Amino acid sequence: MQRFPCPFCGLRDEREFHYAGELGKTRPATFTKVSDKEWRDYLYAYRNEKGAAEEVWVHLTCREMFVMCRDTVTMEVIETRALRKEVSS
Ligand SMILES: [Zn+2]
Repeated sequence: MQRFPCPFCGLRDEREFHYAGELGKTRPATFTKVSDKEWRDYLYAYRNEKGAAEEVWVHLTCREMFVMCRDTVTMEVIETRALRKEVSS
């Protein structure tokens, strides 16, 4: 069993997390015509990087989305950080 560090809650069991996708992948704008290729690429094409990769994960307990940088070969978690930008007051 692996433990992942949630940037908000700390180390937690991997069963509390859900993979949400690759960082930087954006949904095509649907107010314009979207080609079949654009939808296919969005839904099914992954970079599937070997080594360090940045991914979006959800901690199901606190419901926060965050970025996890991990090595896809060794499964080592390199870094986690909040996905949302902090609002300065
Ligand atoms: Zn959390």
